[in-house]
Amino acid sequence: MCIFCEIAQRKQPADIVYENATVIAFRDIHPKAPVHILIVSKKHIASVKEIEMEDCGLLVDILCAAKKIAEDQKVDEGYKLIFNVGRKGGQVIDHLHLHLLGGF
Ligand code: 5GP
Ligand code: ZN
Repeated sequence: MCIFCEIAQRKQPADIVYENATVIAFRDIHPKAPVHILIVSKKHIASVKEIEMEDCGLLVDILCAAKKIAEDQKVDEGYKLIFNVGRKGGQVIDHLHLHLLGGF
């Protein structure tokens, strides 16, 4: 089981800031911005490029969660949303996640 699946199933600790039926969000352990949150699908999918059509709604769920979290964390004046895809795209953890970076 991958580390993000373990966090989603509460088998590993994380600073969780948001959760709904399909996604969970927690603070990045090595933050690269004052607010750096990872928004993760509860379902294990390796990355954007492995998503099947039937799961594409998860991308909307992740983006809508990002909008809400940015408001909750009071960084909605401006923030970055980044999907790293594949090793050449800088992805290290092979579980679908969106980086929310804000508070610059
Ligand atoms: P990637 O490069 O795969 O897009 O980003 C993975 C992110 O996960 C990195 O920013 C890294 O700091 C973060 N990360 C890796 N392991 C853990 C962990 O166990 N807990 C938390 N909260 N973040 C992690
Ligand atoms: Zn996983």
